[in-house]
Amino acid sequence: MTERASVRTPSTEGSVVDGVKAGPQDLPSTDRLLRSARARALVAEHGHTLVAHEARALLDALRVRAVAGTLSAAEIDADALAAALAGGVDARLAPRMRRVLNLTGTVIHTNLGRAVLADAALGHLLTTMAAPNNLEYDLASGGRGERDSLVEELLCTLTGAEAATVVNNNAAAVLLTIAALAQGREVVVSRGELVEIGGAFRMPDVMAAAGATLVEVGTTNRTHARDYERAIGERTALLMKVHTSNYALQGFTAAVEEAELARIAHAHGLPVASDLGSGALVDLAAHGLPREPLPQDKLAAGCDVVTFSGDKLLGGPQAGLIVGSRSAIARIRGFPMKRALRMSKLPLAALEATLRLYLRPERLARDLPTLRLLARPVEQIRALAGRLAPAVAQALAPRYTVEAAAMQGQIGSGSLPVERLASAGLAIAPAQRKGGGRALDELASALRALPLAVIGRIADERLLLDLRCLEDAQPFVEQLPALAAALRRGPEGGARVGARAAASTTARRR
Ligand SMILES: *Cc1c(COP(=O)(O)O)cnc(C)c1O
Repeated sequence: MTERASVRTPSTEGSVVDGVKAGPQDLPSTDRLLRSARARALVAEHGHTLVAHEARALLDALRVRAVAGTLSAAEIDADALAAALAGGVDARLAPRMRRVLNLTGTVIHTNLGRAVLADAALGHLLTTMAAPNNLEYDLASGGRGERDSLVEELLCTLTGAEAATVVNNNAAAVLLTIAALAQGREVVVSRGELVEIGGAFRMPDVMAAAGATLVEVGTTNRTHARDYERAIGERTALLMKVHTSNYALQGFTAAVEEAELARIAHAHGLPVASDLGSGALVDLAAHGLPREPLPQDKLAAGCDVVTFSGDKLLGGPQAGLIVGSRSAIARIRGFPMKRALRMSKLPLAALEATLRLYLRPERLARDLPTLRLLARPVEQIRALAGRLAPAVAQALAPRYTVEAAAMQGQIGSGSLPVERLASAGLAIAPAQRKGGGRALDELASALRALPLAVIGRIADERLLLDLRCLEDAQPFVEQLPALAAALRRGPEGGARVGARAAASTTARRR
């Protein structure tokens, strides 16, 4: 070890700074590190490749700090190195996709994976994915089967459709529908419905990608039947309605409903497609929620094709559901692009089990997490907030104050953008106004850094934890001591040598 100038630097490393610095020459070779007892145990457990890779990464990261003069001798004693190596191996093996606690108040949060799957869907995934299955095998005839047929009958039963098919997501459902029904020809859409959904999905662009020509009719706020009538010509292939799921027009507005549009289209021998976006399969009003259009109503109104998502209000996996007339669905299913957009067996299994829950609508609010969370009584959430507030206040004292408060959540994923869900939760404020913004950011990142990351939202100079989606409070409560400790250590204090080295190498090698 090299004795450097014994400057006692304030530690941001969270490790003991004894003033004794380590230089690059003090670091062991990779081979020597791998010969230590602890490293040999790691190799016995994980094999040589991973452990050697992590050992090199660790020593590389330490060498950089040694050269910079920021490495203390204590960090490279045999025990510290072994612990750092074990930490690096653990960090490398830890999945990047992790479970989180969604306390944002937005139930179907696109950034947090949208709908949470029902137990039935998880169970069905486990039993069908761990073994061969009849994905495309007809057990009755012993011949080749059609993967769509696993859910087609269910979708027809639930929506009253003659036929149905499924694809990777609703964006794909819309793309495929337009391509199959209108490629090389014109699609008539109201100007007020040329929406953009989640960045890359913009109706005019989808139209172009499908090889169809968009014919815009009406104005942003008002479109009339005569606008559609006038736009229909020789090259028209399809009239289309798009549910303006993520924005709302208010005031002097007019739109043509599906039933009237279907009359116009059918008089000209043309089909009508309706993209619902979310599309609930049950009337949400019956569960005390705002009403969302149902595919079954759009079909009854005369639509030839209705498309909607699997992981929004339906509460299932990512999927695009296409229901409609036998002839339209046959054209869509037979279109070559279908093969590129088809569902994988994983979401298909989850979708089937989710749809089957809808056969028992009276049990749905119990069995389907999305509906259960959306319909959760606000009194129950309020009571939970009241119970949790004292423990959270204790963990965050004295830097923050905590109170149970009423909150406004939302459904999410563009469903019913204007409606708010009356909810409740914990409102956390910095005890001191000065530096309050930074204190809130620090708390938000400490919450995200917990083993089970907690995601809240910052509004009005408070951090809000909406408890609607916290059905089991135990995992949250169990982390309060860790949260308190992390806040005591401060923003940098949490990272230990191993985690630090691993994190820096991960960042470099990604
Ligand atoms: C969400 C949405 C889509 C896209 O659905 P994904 O399943 O996310 O691909 C398309 N149209 C509308 C109206 C939507 O709301």
